[in-house]
Amino acid sequence: MNKLNSKTDTQKLTFHDILMQQLYLTRLCFRTAPGAMTLHIFEAVKLQVSIFFEFTWCTNYVLEVAERGEPWSKILWCMGILIAAIILSTVSAAIYEHSVQPKMKPALYRAFRMEIYKSSAQIDLAYYDDTAFYQKFILATGEADACIDRYLETLWIYCGHTVQFILALSFCLSLDPYVLIIPLLASPFLLWSCMKENKAVIQARMERVPYEQRREYQNRVFYLADYARDLRQNPKMQEKCGMDFQHSNDEIGKINRHYGKTITLFGFLAEAFNILIVSYGITLSLLLYQAMILKSLSLANLVTVFYAATTVTDRLTYLVMSWKTIAENSTYVAQIRTLLDIPPTILSRKGQSVPKHPCELRLSHVSFAYVPDRPVLQDISLQIKPGQKIALVGYNGSGKTTLVKLLLRLYDPTEGQIFLGNTDIRDYDVMEYRNAIGSVFQDFKIYAATLKENVLMDVASDTKEEYYDVEKALYDARFTLRDHRLLYQIETPLTTEFEKDGVNLSGGEAQKVAIARTLYRRQNLIIMDEPSSALDPLSEYLLNQELNEIAKDKTVIFISHRLSTTRDADCIYMMDHGRIIESGTHEKLLALGGKYAAMWNVQASLYHTSIS
Ligand code: ADP
Repeated sequence: MNKLNSKTDTQKLTFHDILMQQLYLTRLCFRTAPGAMTLHIFEAVKLQVSIFFEFTWCTNYVLEVAERGEPWSKILWCMGILIAAIILSTVSAAIYEHSVQPKMKPALYRAFRMEIYKSSAQIDLAYYDDTAFYQKFILATGEADACIDRYLETLWIYCGHTVQFILALSFCLSLDPYVLIIPLLASPFLLWSCMKENKAVIQARMERVPYEQRREYQNRVFYLADYARDLRQNPKMQEKCGMDFQHSNDEIGKINRHYGKTITLFGFLAEAFNILIVSYGITLSLLLYQAMILKSLSLANLVTVFYAATTVTDRLTYLVMSWKTIAENSTYVAQIRTLLDIPPTILSRKGQSVPKHPCELRLSHVSFAYVPDRPVLQDISLQIKPGQKIALVGYNGSGKTTLVKLLLRLYDPTEGQIFLGNTDIRDYDVMEYRNAIGSVFQDFKIYAATLKENVLMDVASDTKEEYYDVEKALYDARFTLRDHRLLYQIETPLTTEFEKDGVNLSGGEAQKVAIARTLYRRQNLIIMDEPSSALDPLSEYLLNQELNEIAKDKTVIFISHRLSTTRDADCIYMMDHGRIIESGTHEKLLALGGKYAAMWNVQASLYHTSIS
């Protein structure tokens, strides 16, 4: 199932689609930096106007004055005005380039990225299960800054060069309209060969994308620390990744060679036809004939009309060639906007507020499937009273994490209902509901921010209370601050990615930070999916004792493979193939002698020594 609509391949974008994408970028940029954008256009137009006056109008004037033997003072005046205009123009260009542009670009990047981030935070998690969607998402968002750059560049070209085209055209029409007949007659061929070249360039680029993505992935495997140890232990995998990298390179080479011939052929046709035949071949001959034989054109006019006529065809070609960039850019913008327009399906039906007091959580005949007809959870019913400690246990793939995802409303059940209090959780405001649950997943992330920010998961307000609460949450999660590496205590930056004083935490330490996050927020319901899997058995035991104490008035649902962690739970649910097959206290389940008891017996022998 491809959740991105198909209008995102360049070949399929119509002229209207391309215009719509350009309009979107225009609105975004002008809304973000109206003054700077106006200056951007002004500078583009000014540059081309000054080129026209310098090389066409002034040259023509100076040559005519000289040819007619008029006073040299006229030339001096003209040169003086030109020099003054060039100085003024250079100053304003420098101000734009060095003062306006460096501020404008980051502001535009930020505005575009904020739109993407805002909407990607709301996209249903289910979309991430779709590989095609995910690949396009990565590709499109990775191009966000480049989209702005390309837009600014093509806006510059189109505004400036259109003006230059009109000026040169008017100049030719006023002096020698016939000189334009051949270039204009030739322009359809020129446009056709440019379009052919454009199409081949875009097709080649599109075909390269999957291989470039693979190459990028293999590149990451070689430089990311996550893989470094693993690759050293498994040199064969290193070899395989190297081969995959080579394969991607070869495929990219093949595509380049395949389209290279077409691109070169049509590029050469356009250039050769335009420069050799149209400009120097026909146009110059015609002008020489008029000036030398018919004497209907002055030498001054010959030079400047020839220059203006070549400018007309040059600008036309340039505008057509730039259409390639516009079309390509529109492809990315269309992809990004498709992402922005995906409506979230996990919505609130009534927008009710979540109760502040602890409430009962109830699942009634809940079933769920990621993919139709492949149920992962089947007919789950359970009731969790406020303050209860609940354990979900079972073998890998039995559906524990999926159940937790439903509880967090990252997905909605395919059948059945989940109630918090007496209200279906679909009636609560989604963000408020999710925020009311503290969760620690196995794959939590540590951010390149301070230890404090990693606990807050927010911008610090730097109050004394906040400082104290963060320290307390870390203390309760048994994270030790008496570590010589934490030079600035909770203000110490984590990860060494950007800070030389940064600290890389061990797996166990990082897990404690993740647990401190939920303790800091003081939610009534805490869900922990294998929160202590990176801890050694003794640390895990101590942390669980601590958690039971800190969270004694909270409802806690935890998933753990280590049954020693779950034995003190008020109720243990044993899951198998998406169903709850046994439930009750540890003692009850042992007495039952079922799958839980079997699992316990295997693990007890393994963990016995370290826990007791
Ligand atoms: P557990 O937490 O008990 O190990 P999970 O809930 O992670 O089990 O997975 C239950 C089943 O759902 C597994 O068969 C797994 O392959 C499948 N599954 C998990 N996530 C997805 C997903 N995003 N898309 C499709 N299938 C999934």
